[in-house]
Amino acid sequence: MKTISVLGSTGSIGKQTLEVVNASEGKLKIHALTACSNTDLIEQQIRQFRPEIAVLAEEKAAYELKNRVGDLPVKVFCGLEGMVEASIGEEVDMVVTAVSGSIGLLPTLSALQAGKDIALANKETLVAAGELVMKTAGEKGCSIIPVDSEHSAVFQCINNNRNKVKKIILTASGGPFFGWTLDKLTGVTPGMALKHPNWNMGAKISIDSATMMNKALEVIEAKFLFHADYNEIEVLVHPQSIIHSMVEFIDGSVIAQLGMPDMRLPIQYALSYPDRWDSCFEKLSLAGKTLTFQEPDDQVFPSIRLAYRCGERGGTLPAVMNAANEICVHAFLAGRIKYLEMFELVERACQDHKVQDSGSIDRILAADRWAREYTEELICKKS
Ligand code: NDP
Ligand code: MG
Repeated sequence: MKTISVLGSTGSIGKQTLEVVNASEGKLKIHALTACSNTDLIEQQIRQFRPEIAVLAEEKAAYELKNRVGDLPVKVFCGLEGMVEASIGEEVDMVVTAVSGSIGLLPTLSALQAGKDIALANKETLVAAGELVMKTAGEKGCSIIPVDSEHSAVFQCINNNRNKVKKIILTASGGPFFGWTLDKLTGVTPGMALKHPNWNMGAKISIDSATMMNKALEVIEAKFLFHADYNEIEVLVHPQSIIHSMVEFIDGSVIAQLGMPDMRLPIQYALSYPDRWDSCFEKLSLAGKTLTFQEPDDQVFPSIRLAYRCGERGGTLPAVMNAANEICVHAFLAGRIKYLEMFELVERACQDHKVQDSGSIDRILAADRWAREYTEELICKKS
C-alpha cells in the first residue's frame, strides 16, 4: 500500500486522483488533502477518505472547516505552512502536486527535502524552479513521476533508455482556436477560451491551452524532467489528443504512447509505477479514427517560441514568464484584459526582467514576485 498526500484535492486533477484512489482497492491510502477555499468539497472528501491532515490555504475557510469536521480526528491547518505540513508527514510515500500555479513550489521542495516521491501535475513549479527541484530530487534520491499526459507518455516511451533518445516530440491539441487568424482572435472571450475541445480541466490550464502557453510551459517541464536540451524537444499539433507524445531514438525508431484523453490514466500510472494496474477507464478503439499532425503556428500563438527563448536564457527568466502568465490569465478571466494582450504582457515582463542566476529559492521567489507586481502594474496602466 502507498500512502499519498494530494495537494489541490478539490481541483480537476485532485478529484480524478481521488477517483483513482477509490478504485485502487486499498492499494492507495490518503494521508492529507489540501485545497484553497472549497470548504464544501473538501469536507465531503474528508468524510469519504478520512485523512489525518486537511488544509485550506485561506484562513477563514480553514477555521470554518475545523468546526465542520470537529467530530473527526482530522487535524486542520491553513496557509502555505499547512501545505508543507501535509507534504512531509513520516508516513507519506508520495505527494501528488495538483495545485495550480507556482504556489506549489515550496510544498514540492519541502516534500523532496523530506525524501518523498512526487507525482507531478503542477508544471508551473518545474518551470519556475526546474534546476533546483531536479537537483533536490537527485540529492535526496526521490523520483518525480509526471502526471501531465505528454510527459507521462514520454516517460513511458523512454522506459529507462534515456541515453538512446534523439528527440522528444510533445503533441499539442492546438486548443480551441487552432487555425484562427489574429483578426478573429481579437473577439475571444473567457467563456470561449474555457471550452477546450478534448479535455475538461481547471480554468487556468484551459486558458493556457487556448494561448498555447500550456505547451510552452510543457517544453520547459520536459527539459527538466528528462534532462534534455531544448534542441531535443519539438512540438507537433495533433488535434485528436490520442497520441499523447512520442520519442525518437538514435536509430530512427519512434515510439508513441496512445490512449483516450482521460487524465485518470496518467494519474494512475504515476501512482502505480513501476507497476500497472487494471482500470475501468474507457479503452481506446482506433478503427475509423483519423490521426492528423501539423506544425504549431508561432506567428499567431507566440507562446512556444517565447518559452524556448526564456528556457535557453535560463536563470530566473522562466519563473518570470510563468508568473507574468499567471497574472495575465487571472486578469483575462476577470475581464480586465483582452485575449491578445496576454501575449503582449507576458512578453513585455520577460523583456524587462533583469535575469539572475536561479540557484537559490529566494532568487526564484523574488523573480516570481517581481513579475507579478510588474505585470499587474502594466495591466493597471492599460485600464
Ligand atoms: P484546478 O484549478 O481545477 O484545481 C486547483 C487546485 O488547487 C484546487 O484544489 C484549488 O483549491 C487549489 N488551489 C488553487 N489556488 C491555491 C492556492 N493559492 N493555495 C492552495 N491551493 C490552491 O486545476 P487543475 O486540476 O486543472 O490543474 C492543477 C495542476 O495540474 C496545474 O498545474 C495544471 O497545469 C496541471 N495539469 C492539469 C491537467 C488537467 O487536466 N486539469 C492536465 C495536466 C496538468 P480550491 O478548489 O479550493 O480553489
Ligand atoms: Mg499536458
